[in-house]
Amino acid sequence: MHLNPYGRDAVLLAADLANDPPSGRRDLVDRCRDAGLVVDATAEDDLERTRDLLDRWVCIVDAPGPAERAALTNDLLAEFCGHPRLTDHADDGYHLHFRDADLPVGRVLCSLVAMGTALHLAGRGMHRLGRCAVEGCDRVFADVSRTGRQRYCSTACANRDAVRRHRSREPSHER
Ligand SMILES: [Zn+2]
Ligand SMILES: [Zn+2]
Repeated sequence: MHLNPYGRDAVLLAADLANDPPSGRRDLVDRCRDAGLVVDATAEDDLERTRDLLDRWVCIVDAPGPAERAALTNDLLAEFCGHPRLTDHADDGYHLHFRDADLPVGRVLCSLVAMGTALHLAGRGMHRLGRCAVEGCDRVFADVSRTGRQRYCSTACANRDAVRRHRSREPSHER
């Protein structure tokens, strides 16, 4: 996965893992690979590291305002990102890494999500993380839409809410 200037793939992967936590290391590695991440190495604590990261990432989503959101993101950057370096490790072109080489996947995720989230918030807007507006759905999302007005985790939830709002406008038959 190459971090694009807006960190798109990294924040989408973070939201996906936060909404459906990986069931095990195998699942974690598969889903990272599916998302385009080159997995060089794995370690015993990959899953634990990922869970800790996601807990902290969800706090960024739930931050009450941009200053808090920035501070929490800065904490992740400070902890997990090294100096930038150019690499061609996967033979698919030179790109930037913000971490040391040959780290296990759990640790790579930390650096990727930290930098991806920072790029996403700085590039698209500090408001572009949120929780689904449907009552009873607590899934989180990273808003990569053109307009930046995403309110739902999915089109399924958007449709469900549209139907509900439509019904509530219909005259009641009980009267
Ligand atoms: Zn790379
Ligand atoms: Zn939803």
